[in-house]
Amino acid sequence: MNNFVGRFYHITTYGCQMNVHESEKIRAALQSLGMLETNDVNLAKVIVFNTCCVREGAEDRAYNNIVTLQSIKKEDPGKIIAICGCMPQQKKGKYNLAEKLPFVDIIIGTHNINQLAQYVKDYAKTKRRVIEIVDKPKGKMDFNTPVRDDHINAYVNIIYGCDKYCTYCIVPYVRGRETSRPPKEIYEEVKDLVQNQGYKYITLLGQNVNSYGKDLVDTMSFSELLSFLCTIEGDFKIKFMTSHPMDLGDDLIKVMKNEYKVAKTLHLPVQSGSDKVLQKMNRHYNIKHYKSIIRKARKAMPTISLSTDIIVGFPGEDEKDFNQTLKLLKKVKYDQVFAFSYSKRSGTPATEFDGQIEEKEKNLRLNKLLRLQKIIQQDNLKKYFKQTYDCLIQQINGVAVGITDGGKEIYIPGYKYFNQNYFAPVQVEGVRNHKLSGVINDRKR
Ligand code: SF4
Repeated sequence: MNNFVGRFYHITTYGCQMNVHESEKIRAALQSLGMLETNDVNLAKVIVFNTCCVREGAEDRAYNNIVTLQSIKKEDPGKIIAICGCMPQQKKGKYNLAEKLPFVDIIIGTHNINQLAQYVKDYAKTKRRVIEIVDKPKGKMDFNTPVRDDHINAYVNIIYGCDKYCTYCIVPYVRGRETSRPPKEIYEEVKDLVQNQGYKYITLLGQNVNSYGKDLVDTMSFSELLSFLCTIEGDFKIKFMTSHPMDLGDDLIKVMKNEYKVAKTLHLPVQSGSDKVLQKMNRHYNIKHYKSIIRKARKAMPTISLSTDIIVGFPGEDEKDFNQTLKLLKKVKYDQVFAFSYSKRSGTPATEFDGQIEEKEKNLRLNKLLRLQKIIQQDNLKKYFKQTYDCLIQQINGVAVGITDGGKEIYIPGYKYFNQNYFAPVQVEGVRNHKLSGVINDRKR
């Protein structure tokens, strides 16, 4: 028996779905030592911070929270504190973690989280600090069957890394080159999640899912992978994120339209409505091309839910560029927009660009954009009336609710005798006080 059996661990996760999913793998690794999870850092023998450095705010928050562990470690030197993920992986990070946080016992990056359980055991034995940042994956990244939080939606990695090098983005520097998982391996994982564990949604993850397969010898494109996964028997749907407009072809729209099991929702980051800014961002598409994808997707799937990411205040963005972004929002009428102020990331080209915009101005623009999007989303509710959406039927506070592929809730009043967690078409019959209500419309399926 090792010293960890029956002891507690605590994981704090920052950042994107990729990190959330990696924490699920870290959880599995620590549980393989016989450990139990706790929300209380004071109780934990092992404390892990899985960090993000995509924006300065996330990085500062993580750093400040890690600093508070110093007193906990002082009180109980037997605790093991580990930091992993994107923050330590940066070559020119804002914080020199190893130097500034001497009480942290293990500091590793993104490519060796699969070794974390071993590092924890090594540290417990030798009390020698582990600081190991490697440039390439150390062994298999799908190293453990993840212990997932959610029992409806399961994240599944299909591709790691990114080769795009958008000028504002730190991801290619901390996550490495695009590396796809073999299709058969993904198929087996999804099949197990659906058929043995009862998952209803599978969300395929990658920094750019549309690049899937390009690095494989015996290859399959992303749309082919989707069709392949749809051959798995079961009542489930597949979502995916994130797509890059440059690589999203007609083949994907066709598969989304034709395969019932592919959810009718698309997150397509545009980042800016200005061609000038997109060029400076190194995004490799223009607004005309972007709008053509949206047009095709809507033509093929009229009720598709669309969302996007926007960066406000990129260096050189003037009033005209910003207004073009607002114009795009009014035109596309997204169901959801994730907007952020541009955040300087050390080591990325945009940090050195002329025309950096003051924080105050960035915030003004961001607030203006968010206000507009709020009005658009309220107005969008009208479009749901009399439309039918294939929904996952669930029970919320004793009432049946259909959840659309885009995550919208449609209340189904009076529908008392229902099972949960199955898909059924729901027709919207009412739009009141920002809420949708409807009836199950079995004839439409
Ligand atoms: S596509 Fe661009 S924004 Fe997305 S992860 Fe790659 S470099 Fe970053």
